[in-house]
Amino acid sequence: MSPSDLEWKGYAVDDTEHWDQPKLIDFEPKRFEDYDVDVKIEYCGVCGSDVHTVTGGWGKPMLPVIPGHEITGRVVEVGPKVTEFKVGDRVGVGAQVCSCFECVPCKTDNENYCLKAVNTYNAKYPNGDIAQGGYSTAIRAHERYVFPIPNELPLEQASPMLCAGLTVYSPLVRNGAGPGKRVGIVGIGGLGHFAIQFAKALGAEVVVFSHSPDKDKDARELGASEFVHTAEGFVKGWEGKLDLIICTVDVSKGIPLEDLMSTLNVGGRLIMVALPDDNLPPMNSFQFSKNAALLGGSHIGSKKEALEMLDLAVKKGVKAYIELLPMKEAGKALRNVKENNVRYRHVLKMDI
Ligand SMILES: [Zn+2]
Ligand SMILES: [Zn+2]
Repeated sequence: MSPSDLEWKGYAVDDTEHWDQPKLIDFEPKRFEDYDVDVKIEYCGVCGSDVHTVTGGWGKPMLPVIPGHEITGRVVEVGPKVTEFKVGDRVGVGAQVCSCFECVPCKTDNENYCLKAVNTYNAKYPNGDIAQGGYSTAIRAHERYVFPIPNELPLEQASPMLCAGLTVYSPLVRNGAGPGKRVGIVGIGGLGHFAIQFAKALGAEVVVFSHSPDKDKDARELGASEFVHTAEGFVKGWEGKLDLIICTVDVSKGIPLEDLMSTLNVGGRLIMVALPDDNLPPMNSFQFSKNAALLGGSHIGSKKEALEMLDLAVKKGVKAYIELLPMKEAGKALRNVKENNVRYRHVLKMDI
């Protein structure tokens, strides 16, 4: 069973050397199953992951690859066992489209940590079907990986929240960001601009660390009470002052890791949410011992967290700073993200 009027076309990269020249191709979606939802795409955000994938920075991708995992649109078809959605619903799909549904993570609202998770693109389903992303006309996903979008939130606003927003919301919540806590956000970009807003929306005091002194104004507008330019010696006066740090910096050599660890209070945590291509800077274990600080990671978020995040975004007016481009300019958008030349997220508007 498959809807008759849906076209499956998308902008694919077929050569990592020419990663900024995606070409329009026809593709075969996964086989339609009982819990599947078909979504006609209206918008798709452009994530740093798209760049890491199409450039081969994270390893050779399965080519051709259609990137994009910040997808919003409308439901056009539902499988016979789908209960959450009906045709016409406004929905989104993030960075994951399937999992095993049976393991402990899947049964405890940690499905984003399922060892058999299927990513939205550059991935294969267990039956061999290829998952392609949202720089395309449509996406098919299991209903668990489809999120209802609140009516108050325009789809182009919701799109970047489904990866960038969730990637920072989940570790904020899991690591206790809230009233009485001081949270440091490192880097102001696609992830960072959401991290500042969600930390503030959760009730925490927010300190922004950035190597660009000209981002002071944006940091404060987004909700930071302090802005720290991470130039030589910035750590002076900040030792032991923070409960939690979310690091969104995507290039390892740009992360002053030892100094940032020093800004944590006893047992404070630094959570890496960006995934740079290269290794993190080396650290001496003395760095961890002096304040018992912890260094950790995080991977997107669960559906439960996605729904809470969208609700909080509506209640507290969290706003994505977006620059819209037609989908045919996906290559330009990818290049701008790679060159850090967007304030702060590109969203592609369907034009196929
Ligand atoms: Zn992403
Ligand atoms: Zn699982």
